[in-house]
Formats: sequence, structure tokens, C-alpha cells
Amino acid sequence: MIEIYRDHDFSKVGLYQGILEDAGIETLLRNRNSVTMTTSVPIPSMYPNICVHTPEDASRARELLAVYAESASSVVAADWECALCGEGNEGNFTECWSCLADCPERGVNDED
Ligand SMILES: [Zn+2]
Repeated sequence: MIEIYRDHDFSKVGLYQGILEDAGIETLLRNRNSVTMTTSVPIPSMYPNICVHTPEDASRARELLAVYAESASSVVAADWECALCGEGNEGNFTECWSCLADCPERGVNDED
């Protein structure tokens, strides 16, 4: 069993699983119900995640998700981390949800 994707957001995990299933890759969803069971502190090891059976499927799946993420990022910006308070923000946020700092320039200093 090879894990290829993990996220606390089950809707995202389900979406990615759908992409892989559409491509004919057999997937297995683990920790599907962990979000509803986890009330307060999120435990990354219990996040829902997608697994595949073979290394061949894994590399193909990662490729598919990378292509998908790339095409999605042209529409939806990537998640970003606030430079002031360090909180993580969704890509569609234009300012930090925590301290209201403006979103920094994105995609400019990738080489740094
Ligand atoms: Zn902040």
C-alpha cells in the first residue's frame, strides 16, 4: 500500500481520488471518518489519505495529481503562509485570516 496524498480536507481528498479513479487507477481511502471523530486538535497521521497498490500506480497517480494541481493553480492560487504570524492561509485568501496582513507577492521569489 503506497500513500500518495493526504489532507485534512476530506473534500479535497475525495476530489483527488475521483481524478485517479477516472484515470483507471485503483485507490483506497484511509481515515475517511477521522475528521468527524477528531473534534479539536488535528492529527496529521489521522488525516484522510489516498493509497494505491503498486509503485507503477503511485508514480502515475502522482503525475496525474501534479498535472491537476498545476492546472488548478492557474485558477486558484496555492496556499500560503503568513510572513508575519506564520499561520497557513487558503490560496484564495487575499489577507491573513489571523492577523489580517496582506498576502505577500506569490510566485515571484520561488528561487529563494
Ligand atoms: Zn498573519
